[in-house]
Amino acid sequence: MKSIYLLLIVGSYGFGSCNQDVKSEEPENTIETPEQQPKVKPKNIIFMIGDGMGLTQITAGMIAKKDNLNLERCPIIGLSKTESADNIITDSAAGATAFSTGVKTYNGAIGVGTDTLPLKNIIEIVETHNIATGLVATASITHATPASFIAHQKSRFMDQEIAADFLNTDIDVFIGGGKTHFTQREDQQNLLKQLEEKGYHIATGIEEVEAVGDGKLAGFIADDHPVKMSEGRGDVLTRATKAAINLLVMGDKGFFLMVEGSQIDWGGHANESDYIISEMIDFDNTIGAVLDFAEKNGETLVIITADHETGGYAINGGDRAAGTVDGAFTTDYHTATMVPVFAFGPGAEIFSGIYQNTAIFNKMLASYGISIE
Ligand SMILES: [Zn+2]
Repeated sequence: MKSIYLLLIVGSYGFGSCNQDVKSEEPENTIETPEQQPKVKPKNIIFMIGDGMGLTQITAGMIAKKDNLNLERCPIIGLSKTESADNIITDSAAGATAFSTGVKTYNGAIGVGTDTLPLKNIIEIVETHNIATGLVATASITHATPASFIAHQKSRFMDQEIAADFLNTDIDVFIGGGKTHFTQREDQQNLLKQLEEKGYHIATGIEEVEAVGDGKLAGFIADDHPVKMSEGRGDVLTRATKAAINLLVMGDKGFFLMVEGSQIDWGGHANESDYIISEMIDFDNTIGAVLDFAEKNGETLVIITADHETGGYAINGGDRAAGTVDGAFTTDYHTATMVPVFAFGPGAEIFSGIYQNTAIFNKMLASYGISIE
């Protein structure tokens, strides 16, 4: 009798290790309750996503910097549950679509639901209220995270279709890599020409981006993905973010800006602590510039979070004085752990607590005072 019992335990343990493939039940979207309305509504929202930025990535950045990170200036902390509609482990497409539309979808989906039909995203919604909009990323601007805020495609790998979707919106400013998806196309179209006809300044390189003084901007800082920090990318994320804010703040109805530190995730996939840390500190420097702006401006809510953790990253030791960490990894993919949410500015208080990633969409719209039908 005893030995059978033991066998059963071993058996269930064996199945447990396969949990990754088990489909998770579709989680309920969080329903907004009256107490989740902000006390004071912000005019502007800057939503910052550190792709793959879990608590360990943040901690490693603190140790390596030998100082506080800028995100520690945020007084409100929450936790976000990251699973997608079809997997306990989300990818960046489903993760960003949860933020941009408030709906859990399948991994790989760009702004579409589990039925592959388009979902209205936050940029499309706030545009109808004359709120200016922008996207900045240290990846191709057609990559999964920024794409989910602008495009509607069945698959994250449809870069050319995603690029064409930029023309279907009135986004005011976008800055990132991926210029070739707009110029070297199978359909032979030059989307930059079409963007120009729609009134966009086209800028290539960060100096040209910074030189644009008004109007709409399509800014490209690389033909494909921008290089790593360790390969000399420099402070383009901070500079591009400041340039975007300078343009967006000119509108009198407020703005929405999404900023992605794209490559923290890629350091996790590569299982390289140094890659994670240099990208984490770059993202945090941009957070510092954004918080400086928000502090002076007084009407800007800043939200900083991640779509998921990457690498199952752990710190198994290190030297605080030397600023080094002994990093360890459980996977070269993402994990299902919750990720932190940091909030600063008017309305920040509604981001405390533990909630689904989709609730962040609801909370952002509640912050603008926009209710969706
Ligand atoms: Zn990833």
